[in-house]
Amino acid sequence: MKAFEATSHFFNTAADQLELTDNMRRLLITPRREVQVQVPVESDKGELHTYIGYRVQHNQARGPMKGGLRFHHLVDLDEVRSLAALMTWKTAVVNIPYGGAKGGIAVDPTKLSMRELERITRKFIDQIHDVIGPDTDIPAPDMGTGPEVMAWITNQYSKFHGFSPAVVTGKPVEHYGIPGREEATGRGVGILSLKLLSRLGRKPGETRVAIQGFGNVGSHAAKFLSEADCKIVAVSDISGGYFRSDGIDVGAASRHTHEHRGSLEGFTEAERISNEQLLELDVELLIPAALGGVITAENAPRIKAPVIVEAANMPTWPDADAILHERGAVILPDILANAGGVTVSYFEWVQNRQYYRWDINRVRQELDHTLSESFERVWEMASTHKVSLRVAAFMLGISRVGRATILGGIT
Ligand code: NAD
Repeated sequence: MKAFEATSHFFNTAADQLELTDNMRRLLITPRREVQVQVPVESDKGELHTYIGYRVQHNQARGPMKGGLRFHHLVDLDEVRSLAALMTWKTAVVNIPYGGAKGGIAVDPTKLSMRELERITRKFIDQIHDVIGPDTDIPAPDMGTGPEVMAWITNQYSKFHGFSPAVVTGKPVEHYGIPGREEATGRGVGILSLKLLSRLGRKPGETRVAIQGFGNVGSHAAKFLSEADCKIVAVSDISGGYFRSDGIDVGAASRHTHEHRGSLEGFTEAERISNEQLLELDVELLIPAALGGVITAENAPRIKAPVIVEAANMPTWPDADAILHERGAVILPDILANAGGVTVSYFEWVQNRQYYRWDINRVRQELDHTLSESFERVWEMASTHKVSLRVAAFMLGISRVGRATILGGIT
């Protein structure tokens, strides 16, 4: 199954509950526009390389389209289309006035110098600047991109359209960014995990946690949850897994990654395990925070965690989701679990448009408020309709987008 088919499966399950007609389903699932461009650039050695860049604008019924930009060698149109659709439902679940989009370039950024990365980014913006903008489509960081890339985009876009800091979010704080954006997704994962544990009658002090991925999202989620008294017994990254039954010192692991170019390789304060073993550990809470598609029908029967919070986008394939649901596992789906990032991106965009500065306390307070309210709505929807939290989140998102579409007029 490919990524867009998997997203569409979740969409259709919720659409069945909402009794949507086939025509309405087709309208809501079909992307509004898909752009594919050639990105030819010269390497530092003077060689010509041609990359392919994508931007899929899925839906704008509730506002300008919003979604990250991923630089990864496996990026393709199907994956970008799937992630763009997820953004439409995600922005609707947290009720911020945006639609959904996503973009990417099929390139391995770890093999590029900073100057090559900058040239590729600027060339990509040359190709797509006329379809993005603060009122149409606002990119943000995703895997392989970060604040520097967003600063280059702001600068390149402004050459065509004049001063436009609100054209992207996730910018450096010193360059029109907002404090708290970097921690936002991981912090949101932490806030929502605590809410879910509390609803399930579980105490943080009795919760052992395993986190796959110790990048931006995984490391901030680990910090927040360990400060809330949970025991982080395992973390991992591309170098493998690290396990310690009496709890990993998250501060020490973070310091290690800062000193080793983002990698946990060489972290000796824990036992080495594989990424596969991490997923199957005997823990109360499992947080996939790396790649999509890591929980499959093959490994789902061996996953023991009763609670799973999806920090990554699409970590669970539909057939695995069914197996886990059958077994009674409770899954907080990605479109709610990792929505802290887009929520604070929205605050950044508001700040840019108001030429006003928010401080970190206000950002955290409003993030907590937005996520808590969304969690309660999804929980209520799941209880009322006796469906999983995933189906409930999709139902909430789809019904909000559908209503806005009808109110705006279709033809
Ligand atoms: P990142 O690049 O900062 O970190 C990714 C982490 O995953 C790194 O520790 C990396 O080593 C690890 N990793 C990569 N391949 C792996 C593998 N095969 N096995 C185990 N670990 C592996 O990325 P991020 O921003 O933390 O994003 C992580 C996930 O969260 C992605 O799925 C992304 O789409 C999603 N997400 C991110 C944000 C955000 O604001 N950054 C928002 C919403 C969703």
